[in-house]
This record gives sequence, structure tokens and C-alpha cells, in this order.
Amino acid sequence: MTAMLIDGKAHAGALRARVAAVVAGLREAHDLMPGLAVVLVGEDPASEVYVRSKGRQTREAGMASFEHRLPGSASQDEVLALVEALNQDPDVHGILVQLPLPLQIRADLVINAIAPEKDVDGFHISNVGRLGTGQRAMVPCTPLGCLMLLRAHHGMLEGMDAVVVGRSNIVGKPMAHLLLGENCTVTIAHSRSRDLRAICKRADILIAAVGRPAMIEGDWIKPGATVIDVGINRVPAPELGADKTRLVGDVDFGSVLPVAGAITPVPGGVGPMTIACLLANTVTAACRALALPEPDGLGL
Ligand code: NDP
Repeated sequence: MTAMLIDGKAHAGALRARVAAVVAGLREAHDLMPGLAVVLVGEDPASEVYVRSKGRQTREAGMASFEHRLPGSASQDEVLALVEALNQDPDVHGILVQLPLPLQIRADLVINAIAPEKDVDGFHISNVGRLGTGQRAMVPCTPLGCLMLLRAHHGMLEGMDAVVVGRSNIVGKPMAHLLLGENCTVTIAHSRSRDLRAICKRADILIAAVGRPAMIEGDWIKPGATVIDVGINRVPAPELGADKTRLVGDVDFGSVLPVAGAITPVPGGVGPMTIACLLANTVTAACRALALPEPDGLGL
């Protein structure tokens, strides 16, 4: 048996096409152009790449992209003032502050300064609380993308045993809430969990969000399970040449492939879904801002 590959790139392409179609409809019917503002503080090279990619994909979907760059020396008050200006700007429907922020700036303060209805990352405490209590929320993009892939593969998830390895606020915890919302039986594992292998082995759905290359091996997997690998780890790849690197997930793809029923590859699995969900969340936020019906297929 070889696991079926869940093609995140293809799913993300379809979601972006749906976003673009909805955006075209909003412009035509309501003269509404959803707008996403991205705030980048400092010169972190990885963040630069993410921000450029988000801007390009936002424009390609027919939406307005606003990029705000502040120097790494910017003060917390400067960042808060920018966020407040974006909160007040009617052309901006979604605000994303690229993390990590420089050390002098408290990320929790900045995130909680974003108007919750424009918090397209879903990290504001009010959205966290709403998701946790089953109310309509802005849902964090990576877990939302994972859930979309799972729904596309399985349809109903009800009654399945789901194990989420990792309990971060941006991936693990919201993922667990989403799976609970699907009526899965959810276990959250972390660095202090005992016998992680046995916990993983009982999962019908295994979500790996750890940040440790190839940690989860084939003999941790229940035969036929669906494995969603959120991890993005850069490792040396001497086979590609001196000083070369490549991306791997948290799952040991080679040993898991013959055991699992389905698996997301890295790259090309969860990663592309994250930005597509960011665009979808921005369109949802724009519709909510104008009290328009929420378009099908962009959220939960
Ligand atoms: P964090 O570092 O915030 O959280 C990692 C979690 O893994 C923690 O809960 C930690 O446990 C747990 N953990 C660490 N080591 C072990 C271990 N040996 N056994 C069991 N659990 C362990 O990471 P993130 O959640 O932000 O990201 C996780 C991964 O997902 C990373 O590789 C990141 O790059 C990737 N990622 C990918 C995205 C995408 O778009 N595809 C988006 C966001 C993240 P504890 O709490 O006990 O410390």
C-alpha cells in the first residue's frame, strides 16, 4: 500500500480561483474591492519572502494589497499607531502583522490592537475565544487550510480519532478546536507527552505541528491513517551540493508513505493552503464589514 498524496498545491490553486471569482463578483455587484494590509517590521529575510508572496497573491486575486514596512528599530508605539490607522481605514478589510516582531515590541499587544473583525490571522484574543467557544470567528489560516484538506479528502470527520502533535497558539490549539468542531475525538500531544508513539498510533487523523524534521516515523502510524504534516524544516542537503538545503516536514515521509492512507507532502501540502486561506479570510472579512452574505467555499 502507498498513501494517497493530498495535493495542497492543487487545492490551494482551486481556493485562490474561488477567491478571485468571488472578488470579481463583489467588485461588479457592490463596487467592493477587498483589501489586505501586511505590516512588516525589520528585515528578517524569511519574513520578506512571505510578505512579498502574500502581496503578489493578493493582487493576483484581484484584491488590494497594502504593504507597510517599518525599520527593525521601530518602537512599539509606532507599530500600534500604524495598526490603529489601518483599523480606521475603510479600504483595509484584513490586517496581518508579520511575526516574529523585534524584541522591543510585544507581539500580544500588537495583535490584540488589531480590530478583531480585521484580524485575518485569527490570533486576536477575541477570535481565539470565539473559536474555542464555537462562535463565528476569524480562523487561523494554517489550521483552516488543514481542515479544508481533511474535509476534501474525507467529507465527514465525525467520530474519528484525531491526534494533534504540537500545542502552539497558531497551529496546534486552534487545530484541535476545529477538529472538535467536526466531532472528532481529539488528543493534543506535546513535548511532555508520555509515549508519543502510542498516542500517534491510535490516530485516524494525525496532525504534525512540531518543528522537528522527520520526527514522526512509519511505525508511529495506524495503517490507513490520514497524516497532515504542518512542519516546515530546512535541513542540509549535501546530495544537492555543498551548502545546499531542502525543506522537510515533521513526518518521515519515506517510512510513513507505505503505512498511511493519505499524506500531505512537504513542500506542496499545507504550506500553499495557508496563504490561500489568508486571501479567503480577507474576502470573508470584507463581506462581513458590508453585512453581505458570506460566500460559500471560503470558510467553515
Ligand atoms: P511552536 O514551536 O510554536 O510549537 C511546537 C510544538 O511542538 C510545541 O507545542 C511543542 O511542545 C511541541 N514539541 C516540540 N518538540 C516536541 C517533541 N519532541 N515531542 C512532542 N511535541 C513536541 O511551532 P509552531 O506551532 O509555530 O509550528 C510548528 C511547525 O509548523 C514548524 O515546523 C513551523 O515551521 C510549521 N508551520 C508551518 C506553517 C505552514 O504554513 N505550513 C505555518 C505555521 C507553522 P511544548 O508546547 O511542550 O513546548
